[in-house]
Amino acid sequence: MGSQAPKVQNVQGEINRQNQVRQRNLVLVGLPILAFIAAGEWANLHKPVAELQAHFGSANVTPELFAVVLGLRTVLLLLLVGLGYWGWRLRDNEERLYWPTTLFTLLTGGMLSAIAALALQINLSLDIFLVGLFIYCALFFLQPIIAALFCFGSLAIYLGTAALISPEAAPAFHAGLVINGGIMVTLGFVVCLQNYRSKHAELSALAMLSADNVDLQEAKRAIELTSAIDSLTGVLNRRSLDHDLALLRSRSDHYALAMVDLDYFKLFNDHYGHQAGDRTLKSVATALADAVSRSGDKVYRYGGEEFIVLLPHTPLEGAAVAMERLRAAVERLAIAHEFRPDDRGLVTISAGVAHSLEQGFDAVLDLADQRLYAGKAAGRNRIDSGLDGASDSAADSSS
Ligand code: GH3
Ligand code: MG
Ligand code: MG
Repeated sequence: MGSQAPKVQNVQGEINRQNQVRQRNLVLVGLPILAFIAAGEWANLHKPVAELQAHFGSANVTPELFAVVLGLRTVLLLLLVGLGYWGWRLRDNEERLYWPTTLFTLLTGGMLSAIAALALQINLSLDIFLVGLFIYCALFFLQPIIAALFCFGSLAIYLGTAALISPEAAPAFHAGLVINGGIMVTLGFVVCLQNYRSKHAELSALAMLSADNVDLQEAKRAIELTSAIDSLTGVLNRRSLDHDLALLRSRSDHYALAMVDLDYFKLFNDHYGHQAGDRTLKSVATALADAVSRSGDKVYRYGGEEFIVLLPHTPLEGAAVAMERLRAAVERLAIAHEFRPDDRGLVTISAGVAHSLEQGFDAVLDLADQRLYAGKAAGRNRIDSGLDGASDSAADSSS
């Protein structure tokens, strides 16, 4: 159990490490592409008109138009990087990703339409768009399969565009498209693989965490169980009693309660020893627990050799009858106690029974205690419920 916290930290550390690797790889693959494209565009920007038109195989190209398209593409790229970075920072939380994703769709959709309209006039490819998609895929799509679909879908569009441009009309441009295509296939592969690997690491880390969680839940249940049970006797402990009484009280559920005490138990210990005393306590507790018949009735160890029997929704008379059955069950254990001053010769119990309707919830325990001692004073091995009835005198007849 003590290893849970370090385990969680290890898992968190592993996820962070994987994310850093993903970021670094992305920068490593993104920067060369950008540099490559920027260099090509820079060179185009400085070409004379005739050369520019020859490069694109289109008479529609003017340096001004080319500069506008290039400017738009640069703005789009910066937007994509900015949105990508924003999305990356928020990637842990799908809800917070809503705004970067929405802005990505609106802004890039609008800009791409404008660029595509202008680019088509001059045979310009949409490679920046595809680079943007790569970044987008890598940053936003934590699902590797969707990332792969996006990457290779983009590549298909790119290569389709390249195929439309005839190599004869614009050989240099066509060659550039083919080179870009090759680079992008490779990069797409790297990005998707990387994406898959980090996703896989995250998934196994999460599986580890949830397995730990199951262990923790089980350990918690075990602790709860042991902390509710008295270790010597196996019946419920005082803590459980306090909890159950508070619960009944908060629901205004009335109950009968019996305080049980072993008779002349100090003498038993003195003569048979504490070990035998402990064994007897255990036997008595088991007999009491076995003898309660209704499912809601519970036995608790209250202290030393005192037990509480809680009987919810039971009238005082019914509780007195039930306790008489418990008293008889202990007597039937026939554990010898030859050193008690009376002539019974066996381990017995006395009990005082009270009901929460008699003097209110606060007084039940005290009332049960008073009756217990009244029962002790009247000769022990008896149930005192403050009623004049058969159950209170049953002990006498059995003695
Ligand atoms: P009475 O009939 O008046 O109850 O006489 P008693 O001797 O039982 O008096 P009391 O209830 O005060 O006895 C408490 C004794 O119970 C003291 C101790 O020897 C014994 N006792 C309490 N807790 C334990 C326990 O955990 N193990 C053992 N072996 N004995 C215990
Ligand atoms: Mg006692
Ligand atoms: Mg006692």
